[in-house]
Amino acid sequence: MLEVRDIDVFYGDAQALYGVGFTVAEGELVTLVGANGAGKTTILRAVAGIRPVARGDLLFEGEPLRRVPAHRRPGLGIALVPEGRELWPQLTVRENLELGAYDRAARARAAESFAHVYDLFPKLKDRAGQLAGSMSGGEQQMVAIGRALMSRPRLLMMDEPSLGLAPLVVGQMFAAVRRLHADGLTILLVEQNLARALKVADRGYVIETGTVSLTGTSEQLLADPAVRAAYLGV
Ligand code: ATP
Repeated sequence: MLEVRDIDVFYGDAQALYGVGFTVAEGELVTLVGANGAGKTTILRAVAGIRPVARGDLLFEGEPLRRVPAHRRPGLGIALVPEGRELWPQLTVRENLELGAYDRAARARAAESFAHVYDLFPKLKDRAGQLAGSMSGGEQQMVAIGRALMSRPRLLMMDEPSLGLAPLVVGQMFAAVRRLHADGLTILLVEQNLARALKVADRGYVIETGTVSLTGTSEQLLADPAVRAAYLGV
């Protein structure tokens, strides 16, 4: 479904990605793991079209993405739950969700999408009229995921959905990810919590200083001595 081929991405003169390549097949849950600053967020930004790629190709369902502007990518079925959530705090939960369904096709199916989001996160239905900024961190993360789902994605990208959440809430977040995957959604998950991410993912890519250093199934990576030493402290 997604094929990233050998991409370079820069911030000004500083190169953040060096020839990164990976794939995500339909229905897969793939995780990108690695330390702070390794380039994981930059990869998601490149797929979402927020950062231009200087070299390499991005293909979504076989179609090149490089010339598709960021605002048109949700219409193709690509959604990003950004790091830090980026909600509109002064709007209600319902209004934030509604903003996810901004293209015409998504708007036409908004009622069905609301039902899906409220089924996944019943709390959001109870709090539909509450200002998003007054919700807890975990609830705000649910709103951010819900907003992305409102665009009817076929590829859902999530940037550190567990960041800053209490352990119990992290568990709920991963349960939601697992359920979306079980329902057939294709997911690209960025996480610093490698052990947790590999427990839900089919496959993973380890990102180090802007390159893919290792890839394999979750079982392979969890058993890899270098991964265990560097990321699991074993
Ligand atoms: P984190 O988990 O901390 O978000 P990451 O793996 O997602 O880390 P990126 O945020 O993609 O890493 O950062 C990759 C590199 O690009 C880092 O060296 C970072 O300092 C740099 N970088 C990221 N955003 C910017 C920016 N807006 N301007 C300049 N440099 C940036």
